[in-house]
Amino acid sequence: MTVPSVEAVIEILQRLVAFDTTSHKTNIPCAEYVRDYLAGHGIEARILPADDGIHANLFATVGPDAPGGIALSGHMDVVPVTGQPWDTDPFTVVEKDGRLYGRGTCDMKGYLACVLAVAPELKRRRLTRPFHLVFSYDEEVGCTGVKPMIAEFGRSLPTPEIVLVGEPSRMAVVDAHKGGYRFRTEVIGKDAHSSKPQLGVGSIMIAAELITELKRIEERLKAKLHSARFDPPYASISVSAIEGGIAHNIIPPRCAFSWGVRALPGMDTLAIKRELDAFAERALLPAMRAVSPDCSITTELLGELPPFYSGEASPATTLALKIAGQNETYAVPYGTEASHFQAAGCSSVICGPGDIDQAHQPNEFVEIAELERCLAFLDRLARYAEARHAEA
Ligand SMILES: [Zn+2]
Repeated sequence: MTVPSVEAVIEILQRLVAFDTTSHKTNIPCAEYVRDYLAGHGIEARILPADDGIHANLFATVGPDAPGGIALSGHMDVVPVTGQPWDTDPFTVVEKDGRLYGRGTCDMKGYLACVLAVAPELKRRRLTRPFHLVFSYDEEVGCTGVKPMIAEFGRSLPTPEIVLVGEPSRMAVVDAHKGGYRFRTEVIGKDAHSSKPQLGVGSIMIAAELITELKRIEERLKAKLHSARFDPPYASISVSAIEGGIAHNIIPPRCAFSWGVRALPGMDTLAIKRELDAFAERALLPAMRAVSPDCSITTELLGELPPFYSGEASPATTLALKIAGQNETYAVPYGTEASHFQAAGCSSVICGPGDIDQAHQPNEFVEIAELERCLAFLDRLARYAEARHAEA
């Protein structure tokens, strides 16, 4: 087998970048391009349409019809370019000084292009275990798109034994990241003229009490729960938006705020919500209900990406370290789909080309040298999968 040239990767990358797959737009033409490209090399891919009618996942298997196997996973969507000062057209790959500029070149169409360039070579090999191409949508809006595909593992789709997620890590082996949880708390108070505060319940004041309680909870987490692998080394809580109020002379009847937790592996994040609920029930609601029985405080979980921890000795980490020729693993602050794969019982790890610092930025780029390193990694991986055949 010959390692595909980086020129072949760049050609595919140009095609992928030309599809504006910003998360809220359709990615179906992009998925169809991938399907047709693979079909041209004798690989059958399945497009799995989403319920919303504008998105789709893609799943393809190369190699033997055997259980387990290695999944190469990435997302097709990209973050918006709106409001960003780009020097070139974000949807055209521009090569300059060993770098390829364009939206998604780094996060993470560069990886998809490497995988697609290698796929025909995988097809030609006598593999002992299958490779699965697992391409998803809506990663950039909370890693939600991959979930329906994972739900089909063990049903209409095979369950990979190992999942390699190609998020930008400069080809370092990443075995852990924090989780992200998003909540929204709504306070229903009681309106009244602000000259008669005893007749009303000011929802904004109540919200302030709740936010202060969240701050107290965070201080306690900071003091108690530490993991030096992460920066910052504790779980953090942030309030990101707040709305409420009508006029200066009206006690505000409603206030809502959004907040989130960046969670460490192993912690029970939903306990924070339970603690806030208990605080509301104990410290706030009795006095509120004494004024009006309709007062309430409700907190809703809007989205969750569990913390990811594969572990240094996991099958995925062991394989990635061996193939990459490295002996150290890393933890990263950003979230990925690896959480969902790991939670579904697939041993997962992150290893992909490009630097996360370039992701989501104007003038996003990936270095050609990074794509070459990724190609070499995938080539060694394919040889490993074939070598095991010879051993057997
Ligand atoms: Zn990404």
